Amino acid sequence: MNKGKILGVLQVLLLVLTINIFAADGTKKFLIDDFKLIALLDGNNPMPAALFSDAEPAVIAELLPNGTAAASVNVFLVQKDGKNILFDAGNGAAHGGKLIERLADAGVKPEEIDMIFMTHLHPDHIGGLLNKGKVVFANAELYVADAECNGWSGDKVPAAMRNMINGVLKAYSAKLHRFDFDETLPCGIKPVAAFGHSAGHTVYELGNLVVIGDVLHAAVLQIPHPEYCSRYDANKKQSIESRLKIYKYIADNHKFTAASHMPFPGVLTDKESEIFKR
Ligand SMILES: [Zn+2]
Repeated sequence: MNKGKILGVLQVLLLVLTINIFAADGTKKFLIDDFKLIALLDGNNPMPAALFSDAEPAVIAELLPNGTAAASVNVFLVQKDGKNILFDAGNGAAHGGKLIERLADAGVKPEEIDMIFMTHLHPDHIGGLLNKGKVVFANAELYVADAECNGWSGDKVPAAMRNMINGVLKAYSAKLHRFDFDETLPCGIKPVAAFGHSAGHTVYELGNLVVIGDVLHAAVLQIPHPEYCSRYDANKKQSIESRLKIYKYIADNHKFTAASHMPFPGVLTDKESEIFKR
């Protein structure tokens, strides 16, 4: 990516940060197609440069002059056809997650959530599904890629992580839907394989919106440099391939983007998503 383009990326991200200052209550609404997207700020989550050990020091010095990249934990609520649909569930109240307060600000009670689609099963995405071991979203159907569930079942997975994930899957077992990538899910939601960050990391497409989960962690660094992985990416080669594939898809098809860790609201409009163009 050339210098001019990098400047363009920085300008768009600055705009997103400015919006953040005005969206002080931590919720922000967007109208897309025939549905409403509401970004919910679960918490701030700046990404230190040390997470990106593959990155050239000169690039880090230029793009992360303070040694950290602004980032959040964003959860996304879609309201479509009278349904309340969540994408991921944030850190959980026990770890400072503010999702329940943000939902209340948006006028939605936890029991009014109809469906939850998981991009993957890391703690900052599943933490909000349980509170003190109890199901938070009592009426929600939970959708997780079969490949993601399988990825966390082996002996190589650290026991603490495996136990946490198993606890969530067990608590929601009566309403758990493990899906394959050739399926179309309720409300016309299409899962797209974007493996690498985790074994079954899933991006979701709904009309003109693409929810990209953890395809990127530090927008300011990884939009101009998709070849840089964070330490959180389990399979770096696959992560880079997924990043390039999803960036291209979004830019070529003029989609809105919703990302878990872009600075709040974590949403780029169809026009702003042009920054993914190579
Ligand atoms: Zn994450």
